[in-house]
Amino acid sequence: MYTSYQKWQEFYRRIENKARSLIDPATGRVAASLVESIACPLCGSRAFHTRVVKHGFTYVTCSHCGFVYVNPQFTSEAIHTVYNDEDVREFFFRELLLPYVERDQKPEFERRIGEIRKHVRNPHPRLLDVGCAAGLFLSIASAHGFEAEGLELNQSYIEFIKNNRPLKVQAKLLEAIGYPDASFDVVTLWDVLEHLPNPVDTLGEVARILKSNGVVALTTINHSCINEKLLKARWRYYMPPDHLCSFTPALLRSMLHRCGFTVVKLQHQYMFEVLADVYLPFLIPKGSSNPLANTLSKINKVLYLVFTLTSQGIFNILHSGDIVTVYAKKD
Ligand SMILES: [Zn+2]
Repeated sequence: MYTSYQKWQEFYRRIENKARSLIDPATGRVAASLVESIACPLCGSRAFHTRVVKHGFTYVTCSHCGFVYVNPQFTSEAIHTVYNDEDVREFFFRELLLPYVERDQKPEFERRIGEIRKHVRNPHPRLLDVGCAAGLFLSIASAHGFEAEGLELNQSYIEFIKNNRPLKVQAKLLEAIGYPDASFDVVTLWDVLEHLPNPVDTLGEVARILKSNGVVALTTINHSCINEKLLKARWRYYMPPDHLCSFTPALLRSMLHRCGFTVVKLQHQYMFEVLADVYLPFLIPKGSSNPLANTLSKINKVLYLVFTLTSQGIFNILHSGDIVTVYAKKD
């Protein structure tokens, strides 16, 4: 994270620019032609209150269930235009995913596949990774004896996989494929739910294509964490137009229960950099060539790592992570 800090900042700037490009200057809010008022995607209630307004988008809290979602929300026509944004996607793929993110993800994905393995009996389980990016998790799953395949809508990722990794992937939406009932032992959705306008429908489809006792494993964002309480609208994961909703551990448990799952493990991941961005900017690398600045930068890097490890230890134990990982079994 530390070495790629400036690239991440550039990525967030590009997302912010994308959000601002969708704003109507007359209102300061997202253009009315792109959005519509919606009911809570989790419970159907129309009662809500504004939680935060960010870059012209309004995140509301459902008064009935506490779900946080963007309202008004993109229409189904607008959402395709918004997501087919080559500039941001290509930047993330070339400048972050391949050189940095995959390196950091590898040990984490190894841990996750180890956890999944504990809950499946089939020696060669069939696994579907929804939103498989450039296929790193699929490669790891395959190496661990899983019969793994993926879905990914981004064409750059699909091309990369075709040229570099011997994996089975399709450029389709899960709901558009219509897999037969009980096709898979495992379905994974890493960093997917927060991008979906209707996560319950997607989990319902996951439940249908999983075998009895099958495992769904996912990561998503948690607005009941300490960083959100401290930062409010500045919390990084209120990230329009990409993040359309946010969960809590309790909401995830109840939504999964409704879709026919029982949670078997839930883990928190506290993100120190989210807080450091706002409150400790002096720790952040500046990329200077001045020798004094370089020495300071080395001290800062050590401090940053110490703060990261300490805070992660504390807030993971306190169950207050920005990100949660959930493993659930189909009943
Ligand atoms: Zn609700």
